[in-house]
Amino acid sequence: YSKSQGGNSFHFYNKEMNIHGHDYLNVVSDLRKAIVEEQFVLMYQPKINIKQNRVTGAEALIRWEHPQKGLIFPDNFIPQAEKSGLIVEIGEWALEQACKQCKQWLNEGLGELTVAVNVSSKQLAKKDFYAKVKSTLSRHKLDGEYLELEMTESLLIDNSDELKLTLRNLHQLGVHFSIDDFGTGYSNLGYLKEFDIEYLKIDRSFISDLACNQKNKTLVKAIIQMAKGLELENVAEGVEDEQTVKILKDLNCEIGQGYYWSKPIKVDEFESFVTSFNAYTH
Ligand code: C2E
Ligand code: MG
Ligand code: MG
Ligand code: MG
Repeated sequence: YSKSQGGNSFHFYNKEMNIHGHDYLNVVSDLRKAIVEEQFVLMYQPKINIKQNRVTGAEALIRWEHPQKGLIFPDNFIPQAEKSGLIVEIGEWALEQACKQCKQWLNEGLGELTVAVNVSSKQLAKKDFYAKVKSTLSRHKLDGEYLELEMTESLLIDNSDELKLTLRNLHQLGVHFSIDDFGTGYSNLGYLKEFDIEYLKIDRSFISDLACNQKNKTLVKAIIQMAKGLELENVAEGVEDEQTVKILKDLNCEIGQGYYWSKPIKVDEFESFVTSFNAYTH
């Protein structure tokens, strides 16, 4: 197992070893138990409006607190959860927690923060996805305006009428959509005009070395221009240093997310982060 991804967490699971055979079956049976016993936790990573230098919201990122194996990161169990279909229940849990949390922030006066939840294709393909989101929002009396759904390009390649209707209905509730990991998926960009997308999240692989990689700078500049032409906002993922922030500001990128500001953190740490960050007029 590795000690990567920061902290002292170790990983007994890894993608290569667990997507097939015996290990896969073990993970799936552990995941079933994890759902029942609620072994998951959401961490929150701030999203920063770069020009105003304010926290605008958070992305909710799931972790698995395995009773024997310790903290497990999503890359080491989401693929198995997707393959087995368990992602549908896990995703519902994440949506529920995130909406509940966001409503609490509004009630506590932490600010007009939005919460972003990652959605997988298996969830979106379910006939009742819209109904589930709608009922979750109303259960927590949360206006759809505060919810953002992040999906990858590959999810939108399926240009079906059902998908269009689902997204249109969600959009009517005020829900926002982001394209996650933009630039790493398909080259067919037609879907950008088919759906009511609002944010392009430029993949970390273009951002992390922006300050020293001229080609990435050219690509990011082009993506930002294109997005603006389509009236989309840009989110830069994986911002790790001040130089990158400066470049993004010059390129008029609206929103940033990354270790430069904060890693994904527990809810109480997130609340302190917002309180102190937004207290200053930067
Ligand atoms: P993502 O949605 O693209 O999330 C961004 C990932 O980049 C997160 O990894 C985050 O911790 C990491 N990151 C953020 N800023 C930086 C940075 O400055 N440098 C570096 N090196 N990394 C940064 P994480 O939390 O391990 O999540 C990995 C992926 O797992 C997510 O990628 C998302 O696709 C998936 N995921 C997480 N939570 C959920 C969930 O509730 N449901 C589903 N379906 N997928 C989820
Ligand atoms: Mg995401
Ligand atoms: Mg991403
Ligand atoms: Mg990703």
